[in-house]
Amino acid sequence: MNRKILSQEIIDTCLEMNELGLNQGTSGNVSVRYSDGMLITPSGVPYKKLIPEMIVFVDQSGCFEDGKVPSSEWHFHLACFKARPDLNAVVHNHAVNATAVSILNHNIPSLHYMAAVTGTDHVPCIPYSTFGTEALAESVTAGIQESKAIIMQHHGMIAMEVNLEKALWLANEVEVLAKLYLKVRSIQEKVPVLSAEEMQTVLGKFKFYGLKSE
Ligand code: 13P
Ligand code: ZN
Repeated sequence: MNRKILSQEIIDTCLEMNELGLNQGTSGNVSVRYSDGMLITPSGVPYKKLIPEMIVFVDQSGCFEDGKVPSSEWHFHLACFKARPDLNAVVHNHAVNATAVSILNHNIPSLHYMAAVTGTDHVPCIPYSTFGTEALAESVTAGIQESKAIIMQHHGMIAMEVNLEKALWLANEVEVLAKLYLKVRSIQEKVPVLSAEEMQTVLGKFKFYGLKSE
């Protein structure tokens, strides 16, 4: 797909992410695999002000175009594309419920069969590192190899999928799982979960189930 169309798709994804209530203000960032690198949102620009020409190309070695400033999280976005050659789009946000679980430093367990959207039976929480650092990108690499969605301690979530539409869908599902987790936990401390065996059955079915796109 050409650069202008992909850039517009990134902008549409950002706008929808905020409309869905998954994010606030200029928090979060979105990228898509392109050429030998990625296209990514610029740093700190309100999504409503974005035009395709503002989307930044970052190559595989981290070089970007003169006069443009990519998202401060370009390290972890690039790390995601290197870690998961099977996936092509990354959505990051500070969704309130997922971020609240990240502050508890809990994984989201298999409390609902939809946990299988991650490709595993839970949403892992990776350890805290300062935003925008290579240290954070290193932890993200390990997490995203394990699961298509992760939460970052004291920060927010990352969802990675084959395209932008599916990555945003996955991010929304993670936020729902986080909301359910906090709701159940507010009633009782021990959250009931599905067995590992049942989750394997569900994961088998998920090979043919999920958002149908394109
Ligand atoms: P950027 O505006 O630089 O993308 O930063 C937002 C963010 O969420 C950092 O983690
Ligand atoms: Zn962030």
